[in-house]
Amino acid sequence: MTRHMLSSADLSRTEVLDILATAESMHDLQRREVKKVPTLRGRTVINFFFEDSTRTRSSFEIAGKWMSADTINLSAKGSSTSKGESLRDTAMTIDAMAVDALVIRHNASGACHQVAQWVRCSVINAGDGTHEHPTQALLDAYTLRSRLGDLDGKHVVIVGDLTHSRVFRSNVITLKTLGARVTVVAPPTLMPSGIVGWSATDGFATSWDLDAVLDGEDPVDAVMMLRVQRERMSGGYFPTAREYTVGYGLTRDRLDRLVARNPDVLILHPGPMNRGLEIAAEAADSARSVVLDQVSAGVAVRMAVLYHLLAGNDDAPREPAELETSTTGASAPSAPTQPEGVAR
Ligand code: ASP
Repeated sequence: MTRHMLSSADLSRTEVLDILATAESMHDLQRREVKKVPTLRGRTVINFFFEDSTRTRSSFEIAGKWMSADTINLSAKGSSTSKGESLRDTAMTIDAMAVDALVIRHNASGACHQVAQWVRCSVINAGDGTHEHPTQALLDAYTLRSRLGDLDGKHVVIVGDLTHSRVFRSNVITLKTLGARVTVVAPPTLMPSGIVGWSATDGFATSWDLDAVLDGEDPVDAVMMLRVQRERMSGGYFPTAREYTVGYGLTRDRLDRLVARNPDVLILHPGPMNRGLEIAAEAADSARSVVLDQVSAGVAVRMAVLYHLLAGNDDAPREPAELETSTTGASAPSAPTQPEGVAR
């Protein structure tokens, strides 16, 4: 694995599975009373968020803290960015403080790739514009695999505002890497223009007709609803919110039909949800919804990503054995041992 996490396309199937295996061990930690491990003691992780975030920012912060890294949060407001400092100067300034990782969310697609050219530290893409959100795709894969097992041949339907969704882009890549079949559904106005070329690849399909897909011959294992990203919309992409819901919302009726065909179907949403628009409360809160499982997996997966990028990234490489729980939560014991179930 490279020292950065910029795109889902950079991860081979083996690398994805390695990260998800580590995340499983990290998830076990989450259930313990004392959650701290000394693995990243002495490492510094800066979370620099130029866009708002609840789940991604807090889970990266928790992930760093539980692994004993020093974690600092910066946002555009409150940093010198608001005084007009360029992204390059800001990134190089932070890098000059000898930090180990920079977790960046930025409204410009490609910003993280650009920053990675300027700094020595690891760069983690926490969402760049409408481009990619690789750790979201990993946590979605983790959530799906924990319920469905191996994703080979599983049918995942992604519905909604594809044009503005970095979650959709990273998910298509990671799901394909893991062998899942993906159908994406959106109104014509929210279907990205280049997507027709993608349709040629095996196991990938597009549709404008949600009901045809849900009731079609190919049973659905999971439905991922995407947020309508109004903040990125400059024009009218659909006539009214009501019409959007009628055509593309996961309504109670659609949920009932899905469950009637497959009682084990899973409902995902990366959040934040527009309840009543792309997803009805009955679907968001139903027994088939794994929305909060996704949030929980987010911490474990981000711990795993930090582990893979940072542990061992020095002159004296650390071994997975250093993933030991500290019972005091304070510092690393001098002779770490391998905890049960922890794998790289
Ligand atoms: N939280 C996800 C993202 O930052 C999805 C969304 O905002 O709709 O891309």
